Amino acid sequence: MMTIHVLDKKFVPYLSAETIAKRIEELAAKINEDYADKNPIFIGILNGSFMFASDLYKQISVSSTISFIKLVSYKGTTSTGTVITSIGLEEDLTGRNVILIEDIVDTGKTLSEFLPTIQKQQPNSIKICTLLQKPEALLHPLEADYVGFQIPNKFVVGFGLDYDGYGRNLKEIYQLE
Ligand code: 5GP
Repeated sequence: MMTIHVLDKKFVPYLSAETIAKRIEELAAKINEDYADKNPIFIGILNGSFMFASDLYKQISVSSTISFIKLVSYKGTTSTGTVITSIGLEEDLTGRNVILIEDIVDTGKTLSEFLPTIQKQQPNSIKICTLLQKPEALLHPLEADYVGFQIPNKFVVGFGLDYDGYGRNLKEIYQLE
């Protein structure tokens, strides 16, 4: 692994493909243990989580389903400012055990604002599985249940994560130099 460029920025290697794969195996093993007989529904949040969701789901052995959504934020008419909603969710989540799959939890804003939308459907449980988490950046009350790696507050690309749309195809994760 060596220094790379994505658009105008320089990135240095941070997590190798092997390190990521090994950790995903551990996360999947834990989920398989926790969700035996719970028939969970995984919901991957696009675009960033597509690679993580795919590799994780290949290691899931319990009876389950998976679906993908895109989050859209728009200016609400209330004083709360932006509202986050989803597109693409056709499944009925009533009584289901939901596992949200995210690429990275940064400030926690996106997920903490989106969770009520899921809660409205009255699932039996909601858990968050994120590949990366930046604990220093967390501003909103949000607890991720399955965390791949806790990382410093630096911008990263690769393994599904982008810089301005580019870099998602990288097999490794790189940190801004
Ligand atoms: P939050 O709402 O938790 O602040 O932000 C979550 C979203 O911000 C992630 O889903 C991701 O799209 C984006 N994000 C936050 N930090 C990074 C980062 O270091 N690299 C990339 N590529 N995206 C990030």
